[in-house]
Amino acid sequence: MISIANNFTQVRSEIANACQRANRPIDAVQLLAVSKTRTAAQLLELHSSGQNHFAENYLQEALDKITALSELPLIWHFIGPIQSNKTRAIAENFSWVHSVDRIKIARRLAEQRPQHLPPLNICIQVNISAEANKAGCSIEQTADLIEQITQLPNLKLRGLMAIPKATQITAEQQRAFAALAELLSQCQQQYPALDTLSMGMSADIVPAIEQGATIVRVGTALFGPRNYPNSSV
Ligand SMILES: *Cc1c(COP(=O)(O)O)cnc(C)c1O
Repeated sequence: MISIANNFTQVRSEIANACQRANRPIDAVQLLAVSKTRTAAQLLELHSSGQNHFAENYLQEALDKITALSELPLIWHFIGPIQSNKTRAIAENFSWVHSVDRIKIARRLAEQRPQHLPPLNICIQVNISAEANKAGCSIEQTADLIEQITQLPNLKLRGLMAIPKATQITAEQQRAFAALAELLSQCQQQYPALDTLSMGMSADIVPAIEQGATIVRVGTALFGPRNYPNSSV
């Protein structure tokens, strides 16, 4: 039997240990629970342990859970690929979007963000390992995209997100995370308000934190393996 509460304790201590080893304060890294394919009941269980930030990849599935759990003080992050016809519902129902990789999507989110809500927090997804057919803008496009997004209303650009090429080799994981950190630090020279590096998943939480992650996106290590046809993302 998987215990979500035990997993939560274990992931929290893994984050705390990594912060300590990296000489970073423990509150420098925020745990984002990736809840795609999980039921509202599983989210509720994790929330009971103290988790408030949840991330979803698929809009309809997310909206069902957002509705089911609307009484709870949850903060919703969208981390999946974004089609133009989905931007309105994303702008209306989420606090964060980590997967913006083109200006067209940012413009629509800015136009469609309801005025009564605070600005939508945005991370630009960067294809840091330059993989073919992978979401994310290129390293070379990033500065330009930042410049354009910072001019849009109703959005608050926070930083960069990446899903590096899958590898078991720690040195390669470190290199990809270091490249994203270096890119953010270059961008911060012109945009010092950028404060977010969304990187690291269940298998590479530690190297991500060592390289400066401020948000780690963790699914499997909290909820157990996904048994779902679309679960590989
Ligand atoms: C599914 C997913 C995660 C979490 O992956 P795990 O290996 O289950 O921790 C993180 N980020 C994104 C963008 C995802 O799609």
